[in-house]
Amino acid sequence: MAEALLQVRDLEGWYGESHILHGMTFEVGRGEVVTLLGRNGAGKTTTMRAVMGMLPKRSGSVKYDGRELIHLKSNAIAKAGIAICPEERGIFASLSVKENLLLPPRVKPGGLDLEAIYKLFPNLRERSTSQGTKLSGGEQQMLAIARILRTGADLLLLDEPTEGLAPVIVQQIGATIRMLRETGFTIVLVEQNFHFAATVADRHYVVEHGQVIDMIPNASLEQNREKLKTYLGV
Ligand code: ATP
Repeated sequence: MAEALLQVRDLEGWYGESHILHGMTFEVGRGEVVTLLGRNGAGKTTTMRAVMGMLPKRSGSVKYDGRELIHLKSNAIAKAGIAICPEERGIFASLSVKENLLLPPRVKPGGLDLEAIYKLFPNLRERSTSQGTKLSGGEQQMLAIARILRTGADLLLLDEPTEGLAPVIVQQIGATIRMLRETGFTIVLVEQNFHFAATVADRHYVVEHGQVIDMIPNASLEQNREKLKTYLGV
């Protein structure tokens, strides 16, 4: 693995009284694409939210580029260089594509301007005046991913970007993730679809009951296929 950009150690997390994360430990090298795989309710989304400072009660260690972030609020974590694209996408239906793209503040030097985003996502340039409501599910997902590039983040947390999308659109999302990786971004991807995960990621962390129970390099996914199917219950 390349030098670790994100190091998560013994991360615990709660929703109110419910203790959800039980010592999540994983790391992501600079320039890597890593997935969190696991069944519904395993704690993948909660992990992303805890890393981003969006879980009110959490403990353990989240280091980004060597700097401890566990006690910081989300806005400070965004300034450090992390951005999240949530599962629900958060596209404003009454705003145009362009207006949606301009919503996130550029909190860190290096945040992409509109022109740079359109270069990476030519389809969004064509749709720039369309309202959020007029976009297909796939276009909305592209917009949700493209939008977080404004902040200047180097590490992108993508929560189930393929959910509910047709296979041909899932392929496009895969191409987008590979393009972002080639552009220099580091990516943590929450996925349930390991066939898709295998087409984009370097390594896979298997999450169960709020813990990492296994790590499988993509190169050895084939040998581990049966084990992985058992983990995922498919
Ligand atoms: P999914 O694919 O279903 O989102 P996941 O692995 O991302 O699965 P989480 O969404 O992190 O799982 O949920 C982990 C656990 O936390 C589940 O038991 C879920 O019911 C619980 N949970 C999630 N959100 C909340 C919340 N806002 N309040 C209380 N409990 C929650």
